[in-house]
Amino acid sequence: MALPRLLFLSLGGTITMVPSESGGIAPKLGAAELVASVPALKDVGDIEAHSPFKLPSPSLTQANLVEVADRLNKAFASGIDGAVVIQGTDTIEESAFLLDLLVGGDKPVVVTGAMRGADAPGADGPANLLAAARVAASPASRGMGVLAVLNYDIHAARFVQKSHTALPSAFLSPLVGPLGVVAEGKPLFYCRVTRNPTLPLDPGPPPPVALIKIPMGDDGRLLRDIAKLGYAGAVIEGMGAGHVHADVAPILGELATKIPVVLSSRSMTGPVFTSTYGYPGAEIDLIKRGLTPSGYLSGLKARLLLGLAVRQGTKKIAEAFAPYQ
Ligand code: ASP
Repeated sequence: MALPRLLFLSLGGTITMVPSESGGIAPKLGAAELVASVPALKDVGDIEAHSPFKLPSPSLTQANLVEVADRLNKAFASGIDGAVVIQGTDTIEESAFLLDLLVGGDKPVVVTGAMRGADAPGADGPANLLAAARVAASPASRGMGVLAVLNYDIHAARFVQKSHTALPSAFLSPLVGPLGVVAEGKPLFYCRVTRNPTLPLDPGPPPPVALIKIPMGDDGRLLRDIAKLGYAGAVIEGMGAGHVHADVAPILGELATKIPVVLSSRSMTGPVFTSTYGYPGAEIDLIKRGLTPSGYLSGLKARLLLGLAVRQGTKKIAEAFAPYQ
């Protein structure tokens, strides 16, 4: 039987990094070299490998990922069966979710990377590449949107978070756990997610959206200038279930009259509340003042969704966040 056609796109990251002249490791390897370094991949799929970027992932932008989404949509239309996107782990939780919002259809897209450089003892890149390819090649992976595969865990884009700076086990889905694992060379799904709606893939970068975490005792002075700075929207990571100091609530209300403001939580995970706390600065007050709750989306993910939704007009924002409540 013919092997599935797989597209590998490498954007850079530690998985591509080797020692550089400037000291420390830096991106060097491309997708073709990565694929060649894992001979078992040839039994998984008929692989086409490209390296659109060779960047450390903190230097990736939404515009880069819009370009990747466009390539993926075109590749699927031309008969590719599944795709592996290789990139730095620092921003995998954002890239995976942005691609989830922009790549339509049922074919698997799997994002992976590595916590250890390509030359490091115990490098995790090769195992992650092979596991990601096996997930991308499997019909069982279809219809769940973008997945992130690292350390043999399979995560849904909407839930996955980087939770450690160093360990190969850095990736968690704290709200629900991973969907499954790769074991004995095949993906095993213990639960499934259904696809959420995608948003239009308009060319160019989405408009800038600010992300602000609210610390104890902060007077909100940064918030007063967000609209003046040219941001098209803002996501506020409130305390606990979505709370701020009472004096900050009117500042947020004022901001929400100028640009869309989404309320998420600075807690590691869990839904923003909508109807429990009645004190000034709590979620009921903030929602009355015009803020949109992010549901269970982290601030990082809510920021990406708001950036795409705001382009569709402010009326579409509540609709865009509805599937995540
Ligand atoms: N700083 C690196 C990056 O995100 C970390 C990694 O890839 O693990 O590009």
